[in-house]
Amino acid sequence: MTTEAMYKYLSISSMEIDAAGLNERFIKCPKCNYKVQSVYSDCTGHMNIKCPKCKRIFAINLAYFRTAKRYF
Ligand SMILES: [Zn+2]
Repeated sequence: MTTEAMYKYLSISSMEIDAAGLNERFIKCPKCNYKVQSVYSDCTGHMNIKCPKCKRIFAINLAYFRTAKRYF
C-alpha cells in the first residue's frame, strides 16, 4: 500500500466511525484493570493484548469483553 492510499484509508476509516455512530470502549487488563486498548463497538474476534503496567500478555475474544453500557 502506498503512503497516499494509506492516508486515504485513514480518512475513510474515521468518517465511517462518525457515520455509523460507533462507541469507543476500553479493553482492560484482566489482572490489574489497566486500560490497555480502546476498540470500537463493531470490533469482533480474537486479539492479543499486552498490558504495559503488569507486562502480561492475554489472548482475548472481544465478544466476552463487551461492556453493555446504555446511554439512554
Ligand atoms: Zn495489567
